[in-house]
Amino acid sequence: LTSYRGRHVVVLGLARSGVAAAKLFHSIGADVVVNDMKARDLCPEADELSALGISVVCGGHPEGLVTRETALLVKNPGIPYTAEPIVVAQQLGVEVVSEVEVAGQISLAPIIGITGSNGKTTTTTLTGVLLEAAGLKPLVAGNIGRPLSEAVSEVSPEGWLVAELSSFQLKGTSGFRPSVACLLNVAETHLDYHGSIEDYVESKAKMFENQTIEDVAIYNEDDETCRRLAKRFKASLLPFSLTRLLTQGVMVDPPYQAVRPEEGEIELERWIIHRSPEGIEQRIIRVDELGILGRHNTANALAAIAIALAAGAEPEKLVEPLRNFRGVEHRLEYVGTFNGVKFYNDSKATNPVATIMSILSLPSPLILIAGGLDRGSDYMELLPIFRDRLKGLTAIGETREKIGRVAALSGLTNVKVVEPIDNAELTLRRAVEEAAAMAEPGDIVLLSPACASWDMFSSYEDRGRIFKQSAHTL
Ligand code: ADP
Repeated sequence: LTSYRGRHVVVLGLARSGVAAAKLFHSIGADVVVNDMKARDLCPEADELSALGISVVCGGHPEGLVTRETALLVKNPGIPYTAEPIVVAQQLGVEVVSEVEVAGQISLAPIIGITGSNGKTTTTTLTGVLLEAAGLKPLVAGNIGRPLSEAVSEVSPEGWLVAELSSFQLKGTSGFRPSVACLLNVAETHLDYHGSIEDYVESKAKMFENQTIEDVAIYNEDDETCRRLAKRFKASLLPFSLTRLLTQGVMVDPPYQAVRPEEGEIELERWIIHRSPEGIEQRIIRVDELGILGRHNTANALAAIAIALAAGAEPEKLVEPLRNFRGVEHRLEYVGTFNGVKFYNDSKATNPVATIMSILSLPSPLILIAGGLDRGSDYMELLPIFRDRLKGLTAIGETREKIGRVAALSGLTNVKVVEPIDNAELTLRRAVEEAAAMAEPGDIVLLSPACASWDMFSSYEDRGRIFKQSAHTL
């Protein structure tokens, strides 16, 4: 990093990660310019950086921001590659990276990278809990909570930097090399940003590209794309599976018949086991003892266990935290029982696969509240689960008509498309009331939108909180 001393570094995007990157490069004596499209009064972080003597330009991209003299452009993961300064940088041959690349270069602690389309936050959080219990001094950061380049200066060199990584962040890496890398699953999401599924898959694959045989690559043996990518991995492989007995890895014994629960599948006593490359088998915990609900969460637990073992945790130390971990807010979160009806908040389910997994995790038939930002999908993949597992649906947001139509096609008669009222809060409250009206005591109402929240809310957290408040005031 010190090679950037005295050289021109552009930081694009003033969110927390941009601030952390700017401070980092400033501290090593680089000539840093931070730029954001937003007006200065919408950039509360600007003053802090200016006070340090860092040049901050807000309200558009100035002419000549990136020149031949620019040594590096650090971009916020959310900024598309079509943004003008990035196009200019690429034309001039200036290296464009995300702050993950920067953090990776300077971390004294080994890094655990966790990515996938669904389950990242749950797995990353659980990994932190397991490593803590095993005395391995983890610091959890990345796409979750705080930026990596901020955490990197605080992690103990004897500990582990546990990084949740999005495909956006990984796309901006080149030399990033986690000691332990985990790929949970690959579903078709975020195509608007990546343009194609290949670009999305390749971004995830980048996490494994610089690994060597001394590193560990953990992947989901039940996921076809993961299996295909694993053929290219150069690290030691540590697969996990819900549905197969593997020659080595972390698995469920006896395995489930299929990835999706079949009606009537017999509930056996199932153990999570680890089988070493030498064939030594060890039981970790019974599946029904896990504190988190649903088969997708069992998969997340398999991944976190594999990571903890790869980091050197003793298996005995994992049992208690696996029993006590109840998941993360807004992910299949139990809200309460009102008028005899149980409410679950799964606001974080921002794509159809996540919604399908959550519906499968709960007893059916249930009443679903879905809909949100329209990313151009037709949501037809929801049809079978709507047909088999719902007794009612209320739809909100930009996709309300589409989702309502899928429900109607599935043969569901109890469908309510909620038109927007004055504000998002009232609209969601109306949807909750409509769902509650469809429910009888003993039923479940689940908010699991299958869509992002930004058409109506500032975030999925905001959406989840309003849902919980609405349920409480019924
Ligand atoms: P991410 O951080 O990748 O968005 P989360 O752990 O926050 O993932 O979970 C988001 C939602 O995705 C959950 O509410 C659940 O519905 C679904 N989900 C979680 N884990 C999995 C998984 N392994 N496979 C499929 N869906 C999952």
